Amino acid sequence: MIRTVDYRPAIDPGAVLKSAYIRDLGRPGASAKEPTVPARMVLEPIAVTERGATIYNATLERVNQCVTILGVHENEHNVMARPEASHTFNMRFMRDNSQLLMINGYRVQHLNALGPFKGGTRFDRTVSAYELRALAMLMTFKNAGVGLPFGGAKGGIEFDPRLLTPSERERLVKQYALNMVDLIGPQKDIPAGDVGFGALECGHFYDEISVLRGQTMKACITGKPVILGGIEGREEATGYGVVSAAKEIAEWYGLDFARSSVAIQGFGNVGSHAALFFQQLGAKVIALSDIQGGIYKKNGFDIAGVLKWQKQGRDSHSPLPLSDYPDKDGTLTNEELLLVNADILVPAALENQIRAKNADKIQAKIILEAANAPVTTEADEILNARGILVVPDIDTNAGGVVASHIEWRVNQSQEEVTREHVLGAVDSTIRKSVKRALEISRELHTGLRLAAWLPPVRVIADVLNARGYYR
Ligand code: NAD
Repeated sequence: MIRTVDYRPAIDPGAVLKSAYIRDLGRPGASAKEPTVPARMVLEPIAVTERGATIYNATLERVNQCVTILGVHENEHNVMARPEASHTFNMRFMRDNSQLLMINGYRVQHLNALGPFKGGTRFDRTVSAYELRALAMLMTFKNAGVGLPFGGAKGGIEFDPRLLTPSERERLVKQYALNMVDLIGPQKDIPAGDVGFGALECGHFYDEISVLRGQTMKACITGKPVILGGIEGREEATGYGVVSAAKEIAEWYGLDFARSSVAIQGFGNVGSHAALFFQQLGAKVIALSDIQGGIYKKNGFDIAGVLKWQKQGRDSHSPLPLSDYPDKDGTLTNEELLLVNADILVPAALENQIRAKNADKIQAKIILEAANAPVTTEADEILNARGILVVPDIDTNAGGVVASHIEWRVNQSQEEVTREHVLGAVDSTIRKSVKRALEISRELHTGLRLAAWLPPVRVIADVLNARGYYR
């Protein structure tokens, strides 16, 4: 039986400022300025018709909320609310059959107060400028939240990689790298993979940057294949961290994995590894999905078997569709998967999957946000009111960047690390930040999301304050 958080939406800012966790973060006294925030300069939400508006407005709102509660000065707030730079490039891409495509490439660099910009790269038809702005902002606070010396960024190629041949994908990734060559570098901006952009693409990116710069540039991107300077453990790090977050929650609420069932939306890098690790803990993974739909099995899937079968597809971007997997009780749509009667629901695909429309029908008791922003603000409120625990992305999926930080260090120092070391670092970091969020949430009687966002907003405000603004 899972106990759920006692949620009371009214937050007492005084209590927040008194919180030992918040007070101990950053420099004491940094928040002693006037707490007023004039709306004049701080960014307004964008029209809901803009692509990426939901995630962008939600992320902005999250920052605004924390700033108000913490009494952060308007100077710091204004810096936090907008990216330092948003690069868009129109790539003229010639296909193998001489068809010319115009493809948008992006890199949003949100804030580098803590260190070089860091954030993944999406290769998907849904990529948009505002979505990437939001994801870059989220990276700034995610990195600060787990104590990494990185700022936040996000990039993307607005195209469906499945429509290209492997050699066209390689050329497009290299063309994207060409546009980025002056923006990135080990102490400047370090991309990584994300949806549709795996180790293979990170390797192509690394190669192109090295060729263009005339020197080996291993530390210019993380998530590379091990043979190109990647590290053992990076590939599975995000999924591993998702399960570490689950372990912390299980300890806190007395949850027994051997008696728990799990449903996972998205069976790519993050979802498939999370599924494997859940099964290793003894949980039954009863529902899985990919972009084309899902499958269900009451007694739980053999995840290694599903993965082996799935990999027989054409290439890494075209695995066999899960709905064709033979050893199943039935198929599901992606919408139905979210409503499955499982103890734990893991959205591990894209944002905005759990919305006002379906939040009241969710049956899971715990939602682990493996994807970035899979739960909208409206859904968050509904789920909180229903006592469903949402463990936020900012903590849950930070395992990847923790491992990326190790890869980046290894690439610059030639030190060696083992898979055990990498996954150990992921586990302890994620568990520590989830525990901190649980404690803040209990202390302030708030949902976990806000509890997870408050410390990094405090840290960034204090770092900005310490650095000063004069240019
Ligand atoms: P991926 O490309 O490896 O896998 C994505 C999976 O989601 C695939 O199974 C795909 O078929 C499925 N999918 C795509 N669109 C879908 C849709 N509309 N409905 C249902 N399923 C869909 O990507 P990934 O690296 O596993 O990333 C998944 C999520 O995790 C993203 O939100 C990403 O930002 C986040 N994330 C990834 C990492 C990482 O290290 N890869 C780190 C942090 C956060």
